[in-house]
Amino acid sequence: KRDDQFDDDDDMEIKSNQLFELRAKTAMEKLQEERRALPMYKMRQEFLKDVKEHQIVIIVGQTGSGKTTQIPQFLHEAGYTKGGKKIGCTQPRRVAAMSVAARVSQEMGVKLGHEVGYSIRFEDCTSEKTVVKYMTDGMLLREFLVEPDLASYSVLMVDEAHERTLSTDILFGLVKDIARFRPDLKLLISSATLDAEKFSAYFDSAPIFIVPGKLHDVDVFYTKAPEADYLDAAIVSTLQIHVTEPPGDILVFLTGQEEIETMNEILKHRTRGLGTKIAELIICPIYANLPSELQAKIFEPTPEGARKVVLATNIAETSLTIDGIKYVIDPGYCKMKSYNPRSGMESLQVTPISKASAIQRAGRSGRTGPGKCYRLYTEDNFKNELDDSTIPEIQRTNLANVVLTLKSLGINDLLHFDFMDPPPAEALIKALELLFALGALNSVGELTKIGRQMAEFPVDPMLSKAIVASDKYKCSEEVLSIAAMLSTGNSIFHRPKDKQVYADNAKQNFHIGNVGDHIALLNVYNTWKETNYSTQWCYENYIQVRSMKRARDIRDQLERLLERVEIELTSNPVDLEAIKKAITSGYFPHSARLEKNGAYRTVKNPQTVHIHPSSGMAQVLPRWVLYHELVLTTKEYIRQVSELKPEWLVEIAPHYYQLKDVEDSVSKKIPRGEGRAP
Ligand code: ADP
Ligand code: MG
Repeated sequence: KRDDQFDDDDDMEIKSNQLFELRAKTAMEKLQEERRALPMYKMRQEFLKDVKEHQIVIIVGQTGSGKTTQIPQFLHEAGYTKGGKKIGCTQPRRVAAMSVAARVSQEMGVKLGHEVGYSIRFEDCTSEKTVVKYMTDGMLLREFLVEPDLASYSVLMVDEAHERTLSTDILFGLVKDIARFRPDLKLLISSATLDAEKFSAYFDSAPIFIVPGKLHDVDVFYTKAPEADYLDAAIVSTLQIHVTEPPGDILVFLTGQEEIETMNEILKHRTRGLGTKIAELIICPIYANLPSELQAKIFEPTPEGARKVVLATNIAETSLTIDGIKYVIDPGYCKMKSYNPRSGMESLQVTPISKASAIQRAGRSGRTGPGKCYRLYTEDNFKNELDDSTIPEIQRTNLANVVLTLKSLGINDLLHFDFMDPPPAEALIKALELLFALGALNSVGELTKIGRQMAEFPVDPMLSKAIVASDKYKCSEEVLSIAAMLSTGNSIFHRPKDKQVYADNAKQNFHIGNVGDHIALLNVYNTWKETNYSTQWCYENYIQVRSMKRARDIRDQLERLLERVEIELTSNPVDLEAIKKAITSGYFPHSARLEKNGAYRTVKNPQTVHIHPSSGMAQVLPRWVLYHELVLTTKEYIRQVSELKPEWLVEIAPHYYQLKDVEDSVSKKIPRGEGRAP
């Protein structure tokens, strides 16, 4: 009897194994079918021929035609990875790099991180086996530091070139240069828009390969009058489409995580009241810091009878293609970095999009059939107010980071670097000045030892300077933790709408003694560590577990880099002044002084700013503060704020601050002669 049963079980196992294989096979077949249907697939032979004959090829094709997922596979199949050489493909966004790598590993039937992998800041999912590597443009830029000729690559594909991110623009100059002395290297520049002529001209008249494929008709609707609240308008439009329009998924473009989460909550709430006659509305958020398990959800096919609404940042404009979208809602805004080279102030700001962006967004609804796009602004606004195209990032950002990278690569003459569109000379000079003030460059613009150490860290120069300076104040352990906490890109504190009072109380515990936001972050990290990284503790204290885990990962990596630059781990947990001085060594340009009206005025390039309400210092209003960043929303807000002693400024940055800058409060305290440049 027992034997029989065993036999049965064996039988069952064989059957289920077969079933499993069968299922895997059909899933694979389905994937291959989808591949074959892509416009790029039909061009395979022609494309490979072009690449064989030319060293540099510009590729232009509609979003979703298969450039990103197929081209590296074609080249891999055609033998470009023989001998372990890699094909590198850059993406401006981390989510795109991760998601595309996941897709391609599926299509190739391999485990992610083996033959196909990705590399983004603070996360390397590759191995010795990896031959197809997706990565952010910023990561490839950093690879130049360790492998200046990129000898391990046979092909480099600079993808989404039309985005013109800062890193992509710098890469253009660098890859163009190495292509000259590496004739074996193939260089592909791919773009979703028809600005290929410009790329071709820049890359010595490289041929342009056009992926055919036409969009279906898209009906565009405008609002009659400007919308006062575009988020509310987007919610109303979504619900209207859902209850009145035929099947088809909806894509809504929002500016960031916060907005997406707000809309998600409100939509969930309002659809609950719709009753059972209305189809289910599946809400899928997608933004840079969305955990990867949730990222996959947006690609799952919508079940019969339901409708999906994807709430996305700009990421869905060209980087990611979600099949099944028939309706696009475009409020007309995105979050953009802006930089004032005169004052050296950088900020993130919600800004109207360009016409080119609006057209791309609308196009997302017409990929597989006729679509509809609802613009939440007037036609007049579109025609007369929007810029034609987005200004390349290099012309509206702080350049300190790339200048440091280029200097580390031995590129000294930045004014003659081969920029596709040069940055404003003023911005370059500002960057050099800042790096000089931070001690990364000497007075003739050469990299110093400190600068070399700073360049090792994949963070902004002000933060890397704080890390390097922690050596002097014997508190590198503490500064590493703070740096990691500042780099998660996510909020640390959780503040659920229905438990705000509890959350605020819990948060207050880390601020006892008005220690400032930097030390509060350190307190959170250290307490979490003491609980042996307890998840329960995070829940009880309204701390985001995921952000903490990310901070721990980042900290581990920063710690390894610290070893590389031969800085010792030192701890000085009770001397808060030393820790704050180390932070000040990097952030001294971000100092501000209290005004009579409760606002602050930045010291060096006077501008009125306010402490962000989420800061532990918002009620304390110390006379002098140091801040991590400036964010423009309804006001100019400074975030992550700590109290500062003004005499630190002249002590730490004597060639940046003179006594007169901080005079009203310290002239009596500081004896003459001190605070002068050494
Ligand atoms: P392009 O780079 O030309 O815009 P892609 O190669 O990104 O095109 O996309 C080709 C196809 O692959 C699209 O139909 C898209 O839906 C699909 N695809 C891409 N990434 C994923 C993913 N992570 N999951 C599921 N499908 C994907
Ligand atoms: Mg692409």
